[in-house]
Amino acid sequence: AHLDRIAAVDGPVHAFLHVDAEGALAQAKASDERRAAGTLLSALDGVPIAVKDVLATEGMPTTCGSKILEGWVPPYDATVVRRLKEAGLPILGKTNMDEFAMGSSTEHSAYGPTHNPWDLDRIPGGSGGGSAAAVAAFEAPLALGTDTGGSIRQPGAVTGTVGMKPTYGGISRYGLVAMANSLDQVGPVTRTVLDAALLHEAIGGHDPRDSTSIDQPLPPLVEAARQGLTGDLTGLKVGVVTELSGDGYQPGVLARFQEGVDLLVKAGAEVVEVSCPHFVHALATYYLIMPCEASSNLAKFDAMRYGLRVWPSEDASAEEVMRATRDAGFGDEVKRRIILGTYALSSGYYDAYYGQAQKVRTLISRDFEAAFEKVDVLVSPTAPTTAFKLGEKLDDPIAMYLNDLATIPANLAGVPGISVPSGLADEDGLPAGFQILAPALADDRCYRVGAALE
Ligand code: GLN
Repeated sequence: AHLDRIAAVDGPVHAFLHVDAEGALAQAKASDERRAAGTLLSALDGVPIAVKDVLATEGMPTTCGSKILEGWVPPYDATVVRRLKEAGLPILGKTNMDEFAMGSSTEHSAYGPTHNPWDLDRIPGGSGGGSAAAVAAFEAPLALGTDTGGSIRQPGAVTGTVGMKPTYGGISRYGLVAMANSLDQVGPVTRTVLDAALLHEAIGGHDPRDSTSIDQPLPPLVEAARQGLTGDLTGLKVGVVTELSGDGYQPGVLARFQEGVDLLVKAGAEVVEVSCPHFVHALATYYLIMPCEASSNLAKFDAMRYGLRVWPSEDASAEEVMRATRDAGFGDEVKRRIILGTYALSSGYYDAYYGQAQKVRTLISRDFEAAFEKVDVLVSPTAPTTAFKLGEKLDDPIAMYLNDLATIPANLAGVPGISVPSGLADEDGLPAGFQILAPALADDRCYRVGAALE
C-alpha cells in the first residue's frame, strides 16, 4: 500500500531519492510469514520505514543529497539500519535532504527540493524534509531523520509530524555520515508520539561501534508515552523559555504554542517562565562550531575514496582531480560552510572563534542545568514560522539560519527534544510545532509530555 502511495504522490512531493520496492516487498513477505508462524521480531515487525539518505544502507545508494556521493553504494549498514532490519521493519527507500544535512528547507539537495504535502509551493523544512514529507504524505508510517541543529524537529513542525532528537549518545551514529559529530543525532519521525517511542526503543541503546554511545539502558520510552496519553501531568513542572518566543515568531505559531501551554496546565502541570540568558547566542555559537566540524569531516571527500571523480584533463595531477571533483561535487552551501569552518580553525583564529564558541557552548549547557534544577521540562515553539515558500530564503543564508533559533540549544547541550504538532496557524492554515526539552538521559519526559498534548 505504501509503495502504491509513493507511486501516486511522490512525483510532486519528491520525498524519496531512492525507492527499493523489491527489497521492501521481500522484507514485508518475510514479516507476513513470521506473523503466520507467531514469531514476530518486535512490535514494529512489518511496519515499513523510510530512511534519510545520510545513513549508510548496504547495497542501497547513499548520497547525502550530494553529487559528490552520486553512485556510492555503502558496503555496510549503519547500526540504526541494522537494528531496523533485526526488528523486522521493511525499508522503503532513502529520503531527500539538504546536501550533507546543511539547511532548513531541503532546497540545498543536489537532486531538487522536496515539497511540503500541505502546500506544494512550500518547503517541508530541513535538512530532513524528505523524511518528514514522506510521513506527512502517508508515503511511510515511520521515518528516520538526523538532527544536528533541528533537522528532525523543524521539518516535523512545518509538516505536522512528530520529530524526536534523543539525548546525545542515546542512539548510535555508526554509519551516519557526519556533518558535526558533537551535535549529530539520529531520531524518529512519525505521526504519533507513541510511534516515535516505539521506533526509538527499536533503534536506540548502546553501540560499541560509536565511541560516544552511552553505555546504559534507555529510559522506558513507550511506557512514558502511554502514561502521557492518559492526559494526567499532575506534579510535573514546566518552564516556558523566555528567550524562545516573542520577537521574530509568527503570531499564529505563538497562539498555538500558548494553547499547548494551557493544555499542560489543564493536565495538572505547574507552568512557570524560565530565563536561559545565553540562548540568544546559540545561533552564532552553532554556526561556528558546526562549520568547523563539517569542514574537517568533509575533507574525506577527496575524489579518491568515494563516489564522483572528475578529470579536468587526461594527465591531471591528483590535486587537480581533487579540486575539479570538489568544485563540481559540492553545492554552494556546503562550500560556504567548508570555507567558514576552515577559516575559523586557521592558526591565529582558532582561539578567537572556535575556542570562544566552545566557551559559550558551556554557558548554554549551564543555562539548561540551572533551568532543570527548577523544572522537569522546558517548552517553546519548535520553529519561529510555518512553512515558507520555496525559494523565499534561498539567497539569504542568514534568514535560513534563523529557522533554527529554538532547536539549536538542545544540540549544543546534548539534551533531548521533541516536536509535536500544535495545530494550524490562523494566518495561513499551516502546521506549527510545540517543542519539549528535557535533561540528558530523560528522553522519557519528552514522550510523556508530548503524548499528553495529542
Ligand atoms: N538547519 C540547520 C543547519 O543548516 C540544522 C541542520 C541539521 O540539523 N542537520 O545546519
